[in-house]
Amino acid sequence: RASSVDAQTSSDKGVENVVIIGSGPAGYTAAIYAARANLKPVVFEGYQVGGVPGGQLMTTTEVENFPGFPEGITGPDLMDRMRRQAERWGAELFQEDVEYVDVKNSPFTVKSSERKVKCHSIVYATGATAQRLRLPREDEFWSRGISACAICDGASPLFKGQVLAVVGGGDTATEEAIYLTKYARHVHLLVRRDQLRASKAMQDRTWNCMAMVDYHECFRVFNNPNITVHFNTETVDVVSNTKGQMSGILVRKLDTGEDSVLEAKGLFYGIGHSPNSQLLEGQVELDRSGYVIVEEGTAKTSVRGVFAAGDVQDHEWRQAVTAAGSGCVAALSVERYLVHNN
Ligand code: FAD
Repeated sequence: RASSVDAQTSSDKGVENVVIIGSGPAGYTAAIYAARANLKPVVFEGYQVGGVPGGQLMTTTEVENFPGFPEGITGPDLMDRMRRQAERWGAELFQEDVEYVDVKNSPFTVKSSERKVKCHSIVYATGATAQRLRLPREDEFWSRGISACAICDGASPLFKGQVLAVVGGGDTATEEAIYLTKYARHVHLLVRRDQLRASKAMQDRTWNCMAMVDYHECFRVFNNPNITVHFNTETVDVVSNTKGQMSGILVRKLDTGEDSVLEAKGLFYGIGHSPNSQLLEGQVELDRSGYVIVEEGTAKTSVRGVFAAGDVQDHEWRQAVTAAGSGCVAALSVERYLVHNN
């Protein structure tokens, strides 16, 4: 589709139409839409995750819930396809981390170690980082027993019907534990403190549950027959069986100092995410946790011409498809913005 924005005109004084920062599903989707609209987007892909572009999905194996792949697809394969699609339509990709952004002065400035780019608009899609415990065997079992996303992995054959554990005491952990009861034989919630930080509402949650007959029981942490809450419990490491598969979790009771192994085939981290919004601090409105605040139902931030997409503005859903959807919204918003401001 041809754009009503004349990309050449708006770029001719060395000012780009749009710079997209990030190469996850949000960044690449924004790049595909902006490139197809002839905006000649400049994309800073970054290389923070594992030294390669592609974002969080580069750290996982099978993605089973991205529409269009009935047999599933590996995270790296999915991201490679998105990247090639963006490139095919003419997005200019730089594998560089952005080090500095100035959105206080117009045109905006985006700077990496290699180049400085002036632009009329920005799509900020730098994602979020799932916090890790840094257990001694974490890398060995990442995606092979340890996961940071119950919705993504809970139904996978590796975990279905097994005893699982969730570590954390806030809303995220509680929600993950409740979600996993749909698939797991039993769920242990490992809480470092002597109480949950999760909101009372979350602890008592008794929503309807599709997967279980006894639906009043299934969305509740306490008195839920499918969840055991372990207080004062530190997660020390994971342990494996003779086949090298994860078979349990080494835990320490903090009140007694006693160590023991809890049988479990999976460990889910529910200890929070950090949005990668540092570059916008002091320039664009962020919430208390650092997520970029967007006007509800849009990609608009508090600064005109700066749009945010994906996990950096979404503390709730955090899925590849929602990130991609918001990347599309951001690119279409850029197109409209340029039409009305050039
Ligand atoms: P990200 O994927 O986080 O990408 C952000 C990008 O921004 C990265 O490329 C990063 O390098 C770049 N960046 C950051 N800072 C800078 C900078 N300063 N300059 C330039 N670039 C920068 N979701 C699903 O729907 N299904 C699944 O099966 C699934 N499995 C998952 C498994 C794991 C292990 C994890 C961690 C997540 C999983 N998710 C899954 C969630 C999904 O990966 C995220 O919701 C999605 O990737 C968010 O996309 P995003 O584009 O917002 O950000």
